[in-house]
Amino acid sequence: MRFSDAARPELGDPRGRRVRRRAAADARARRTEAVKEAPDWELLREAGAAIRDRTLGDLGTHLEALEAAVLDEGGHVHWARDAGEARRIVHRLLPADTEAALVRSDVTDEIGLAGGEPGPHTKAAVVGAGFLVAETGTLVVADRGEGLTFPAALVVVAGLEDMVPDWADLEVLLQLLSRAGAGRPMHPAVATRTGEFELVLVDNGRTKVLADPVGREALRCVHCSACSDVCPVFERAGPRPYSPGRPGPIGAVLTPQVHGVEAPLAASLPFASTLCGACGDVCPVKIDIPGLLAHLRGRVVESRRARPVPTPELLLMRGVAWSMADQRRYERTLVRRARWARLLARDGKIRRLPGLLGKWTDARDLPAPPRQTFRAWWRAR
Ligand code: SF4
Repeated sequence: MRFSDAARPELGDPRGRRVRRRAAADARARRTEAVKEAPDWELLREAGAAIRDRTLGDLGTHLEALEAAVLDEGGHVHWARDAGEARRIVHRLLPADTEAALVRSDVTDEIGLAGGEPGPHTKAAVVGAGFLVAETGTLVVADRGEGLTFPAALVVVAGLEDMVPDWADLEVLLQLLSRAGAGRPMHPAVATRTGEFELVLVDNGRTKVLADPVGREALRCVHCSACSDVCPVFERAGPRPYSPGRPGPIGAVLTPQVHGVEAPLAASLPFASTLCGACGDVCPVKIDIPGLLAHLRGRVVESRRARPVPTPELLLMRGVAWSMADQRRYERTLVRRARWARLLARDGKIRRLPGLLGKWTDARDLPAPPRQTFRAWWRAR
């Protein structure tokens, strides 16, 4: 299903939209205050971006170090190629007849795990990792104030990139995550456990993303959700129309890279953006999300170009390109198009354009073009 179709029920729910608008406004206000209080915020962002790039540039080495450290501390590491394999491993690792609690994260949503929150008597838990520190094999979960404690049987699920080489790097990333995500100088508590856990490291398309020298920047993400809080599309559509575990602008960038640009949802996600740039401005690790969206739009268009039957959109664009290739032809087209458009107008507005162009007027009016084109007006002066 395309993003616009998946978003339709959410758009028709004004109450849900109101709730989201208020929550996003609160999150933005908290974040703005938290960032204002950090005079070195821009330097911190630069450092965070550099740490993530350095880590991604040598991911194999850091993952081997992480695996060795976890094994040294008595834990085990399991590698999952995709979501299905990750789910199977998690279920196999859980002690029989034990109800396990789930501490959700983007990666647990992504692989489709479901369960309850941990209670005081929980014997086993599946936890989505915040970060994993490679040098000591330590799980780090930034606690939102619930007083998180880990039970004896612990299964940790993490994406390959949820890893930092050492504690000095973690200090920088935690500051960024706290201020950008929680809108606080620091999380109230950070829960850790070293080694004694079963670690499931999930690829699920990440190595594919890593192979794209442009797109790999998206793997810098620390899952703070600041980009979603500032996104006008996300505010209206909510998380549901996106791929599970990959909501908001960063999801719009990751999903097409992971699933390819042929499937309807993945192909439509790069266009689910106004390209206003707010997501890139706010991202604590300086991911150029608008730039990546434009890059992916290019990939979607390229993939359609190869189809034997051109899409109506492509035919339309070819027509536009043909008319714009010659100045006189372009001017004549403008005059003719304006004349037609004025015929469709009522009270200075066009409420419904015909055919494919009708998509534009589905959600907005189009002002009727003036009698004189700008070029004619300019020449007259
Ligand atoms: S991409 Fe979005 S969720 Fe990820 S770090 Fe940047 S702002 Fe946060």
